[in-house]
Amino acid sequence: AKEEGRGTWRFFEPAMNARVVARRQLEQDLRRAVTEEQFQVYYQPVVEAEGGQISGFEALVRWVHPERGMVSPAEFIPLAEELGLIRAIGGWVLRQACSAAAAWPGELKVAVNLSPVQFSGGALVAEVASALKHAGLAPHCLELEITESLLLTDDAAVLATLHELRALGVRIAMDDFGTGYSSLSYLQRFPFDKIKIDQSFVRGLGQDEHCTAIIRAVVGLGKALGMTVNAEGVETAEQLETLRAEGCGEFQGYLFSKPRPSQDVRTMLGSPEYS
Ligand code: C2E
Ligand code: CA
Ligand code: CA
Ligand code: CA
Repeated sequence: AKEEGRGTWRFFEPAMNARVVARRQLEQDLRRAVTEEQFQVYYQPVVEAEGGQISGFEALVRWVHPERGMVSPAEFIPLAEELGLIRAIGGWVLRQACSAAAAWPGELKVAVNLSPVQFSGGALVAEVASALKHAGLAPHCLELEITESLLLTDDAAVLATLHELRALGVRIAMDDFGTGYSSLSYLQRFPFDKIKIDQSFVRGLGQDEHCTAIIRAVVGLGKALGMTVNAEGVETAEQLETLRAEGCGEFQGYLFSKPRPSQDVRTMLGSPEYS
C-alpha cells in the first residue's frame, strides 16, 4: 500500500483488490438473495439397505444467482453464517422442506441440515414446531442433521435445545461423523437417532484399508447404541456392496440419485427399487 494523501491508502495489489471486491459483491448479492428468495431446495433420496426402498429425502439448499447461476452451499453457507443471514435462510429451508414432505405419499422422512448458528438466539424450537404445524407434517417425519462442531463448545443450552427438539418428536442425526474431534464423547452426551458416516470414509473404500475398519467400527457402535447408520456419498456398486456387507442401514449417493428439485421427487419415487 502507498500513502496518497493524508489518511488515504490505495492498494496496488490487483489480485487482492479483486478478491476484496468479489467478496463484497457476493455479500451484497447474498443479502438481496434473502429478500428476493433466490433459493431452491433440492432433494436427495435416502435408500434403505433392507428392501432398497426410499425412506425419505435430504433437503439441500441451492442459490440460483441471477447472473452466476447455481452457487454451491459450500460457498455461501459459511458466508451466510458470518453475515447472520443463516437464520433466515435456514428457516426458509425448514418451512419449504416440511411443506414438501407433507405432500409426499406415505410416511417419507425429510432431513434438514441445521447450522450451529441456528441454535443461538433461542428461537429454534418454536420455529421447528411452527414449521411442522403450518405444513401439517408429523414430527417423526422430520429429521434434523447437526454436525459435531455444534457440540464442540459443550454448551448446556445446546444440549437442552436438542432435548426440546427431541421432545417435539423430531429425529436428530449426527452428520459427517468421524471428521471432528472426540466424536465418541458426543454420542455419549446425546442419544442421536442416526449417525451419518462422512463421505471421505466411503470414498476411501477399496483404496485405504483403514476406511473399511472405521466403517465397521461405526456400524458396530450404531448397533450397540441403537442408532441407524447412514453411509453418504455412495458412487459405485463396489462401495455399495462393501457397505451392505458391513451392515450399514441406509445409503445416499450419486449411485442412486443426485439431489434434484422438488418436482422430481415423484419421478425418483417411481423409479425401480434400488436393491
Ligand atoms: P452435507 O450435509 O454433508 O450434504 C451432502 C453433500 O454431498 C451434498 O452437497 C450432496 O449433494 C453431496 N453428495 C451426495 N451424494 C454424493 C455423492 O455420491 N458424491 C459426491 N461427491 N457428493 C455427494 P451440497 O448439496 O453441495 O451441500 C454441501 C454442504 O452444504 C452440505 O453437506 C451441508 O453441510 C451444507 N448445506 C446444504 N444445504 C444446507 C442447508 O439447508 N442448511 C445448512 N446449514 N447447510 C446446508
Ligand atoms: Ca405424507
Ligand atoms: Ca447433511
Ligand atoms: Ca454429510
